[in-house]
Amino acid sequence: MMERELEGHIALVTGGSRGIGRAIAQTLAEGGARVAVVARNAEGAERAAAELPGDGHAGYACDVADGDTVNEVVARIADELGAVSILVNNAGVTRDNLLLRMKEDDWSTVMDVNLKGAFHTVKAVAKGMMKRREGAIINVTSVVGLMGNAGQANYAASKAGLVGFTKSVARELASRGIRCNAVAPGYIRTDMTADLGDSQTEALQSGIPLQRLGEPEDISAVVRFLAGPGARYITGQVLAVDGGMVM
Ligand code: NDP
Repeated sequence: MMERELEGHIALVTGGSRGIGRAIAQTLAEGGARVAVVARNAEGAERAAAELPGDGHAGYACDVADGDTVNEVVARIADELGAVSILVNNAGVTRDNLLLRMKEDDWSTVMDVNLKGAFHTVKAVAKGMMKRREGAIINVTSVVGLMGNAGQANYAASKAGLVGFTKSVARELASRGIRCNAVAPGYIRTDMTADLGDSQTEALQSGIPLQRLGEPEDISAVVRFLAGPGARYITGQVLAVDGGMVM
């Protein structure tokens, strides 16, 4: 990996206060980018930004499901840090249940955050990227969006939707010098998966050829690559980072 290959870039990472997003913010900062950490909880976002290596990072409270707030926050980021050239749509939630027990609210919340949130952020940054004819967008989807999962119809649909969104945005914006790719993590150790018991973890591990759950840094290394110059000829791709679960 090149050192500080992201110098001069401003990266916006949604859900950057914890888990995978936090590791992504850290890795992009190590690459030289100034990072805008976005999360619903202001304190969490600000604390995560303050702990990043280097100067010029900042945290912002923002619910990505709310388009007006996203527009306001992206404008503040442009004023305070600079125009966003790397966007990582990582914010995501689960509201798991079997289909027949799933409430409409659980469906809508997951769609609004995981899928519509990415629509809002891409719309908010795309105009500036098009004008400057540069930009890298990375959407964090999931292996569940590729293979489905009982008890996660809403989540799987939102993540499969992100795949179609990624490819459409890639086709639409390629001529303006903007790349759009997705990373599909397998099971990664974060708050989102903290409730898995030992027996569930063992069962999961037996289906992973590399025989371990992933760590947030397994994902952030790939996001850094996709954001940087080494990936300059890659767009519209979905890269599974899952220890071989889906192949
Ligand atoms: P966590 O639950 O650990 O963290 C979620 C992050 O998203 C937090 O920073 C949270 O901050 C933020 N967030 C949640 N809702 C919103 C919102 N409406 N607006 C802005 N920020 C929000 O999740 P993970 O790190 O595990 O997951 C990160 C991404 O990776 C998600 O998209 C997830 O679907 C995906 N993924 C995770 C896998 C795993 O095994 N962990 C596997 C495959 C994909 P706050 O609460 O302050 O808003």
